[in-house]
Amino acid sequence: MDNNNAILSSDKSYKKNSPSGAGGALRVNEIFYSIQGEGHYTGTPAVFVRLAGCNLNCWFCDTEFHSFTEMSEDEIVAEASQYPSRYMVITGGEPTLQLTASLTSKLHAIGFYIMLETNGTQPLPEGCIVDWITCSPKCPSPATQHQTPITHHPIRIQRIDELKVVYEGTEQDMNLYDAIQAKEYRLQPCYTGDRQKDTFITNQTIDYILTHPKWRLSLQTHKILGVR
Ligand code: SF4
Repeated sequence: MDNNNAILSSDKSYKKNSPSGAGGALRVNEIFYSIQGEGHYTGTPAVFVRLAGCNLNCWFCDTEFHSFTEMSEDEIVAEASQYPSRYMVITGGEPTLQLTASLTSKLHAIGFYIMLETNGTQPLPEGCIVDWITCSPKCPSPATQHQTPITHHPIRIQRIDELKVVYEGTEQDMNLYDAIQAKEYRLQPCYTGDRQKDTFITNQTIDYILTHPKWRLSLQTHKILGVR
């Protein structure tokens, strides 16, 4: 069985594209205002909208995406627009499961530049227009990695502006990502919270980039600085 499907059927809190339809409620995990800490837009003040639910169940996931408040699109727009920045990061969970064309249209109408963070396994719902897509492919859990070839979950998102790969060290098979087309390629050292280990992985990441210069270093500056 496809690993995605196995996980889908085991996650009862998740329902694809639900609720749907223009103007319907979305399950919102949180909305907050902060500085984008990683990737192309590092340092940019942005409104973060975290949508609840995910179609994967990554063994390393440290994101709480199960809890939610149902909010209408107009409530989301109203809350987001009280902040001074017109940059928005829509993340999750997996945001493509709930995003709607009408929400992106309303956000664009009041000047938001919409950046989407996705695992790439789902296409953007029809009519959704976003300005920047960061895709971070995910690999199956170690329990299923005896399957050969080991690869990431299939990529179904229509385009990728920024491919972000978390680098765990020299044993990671970077050939997995050769076929993925993106405008920019970012390699991000895996953050463990252990300073010595993190320095070691960061140095290995830099070494990899120096020998594979299509990649750029992405640091989780918000974690380094201790900001949200
Ligand atoms: S895709 Fe992201 S949010 Fe979903 S389970 Fe994996 S790490 Fe967590």
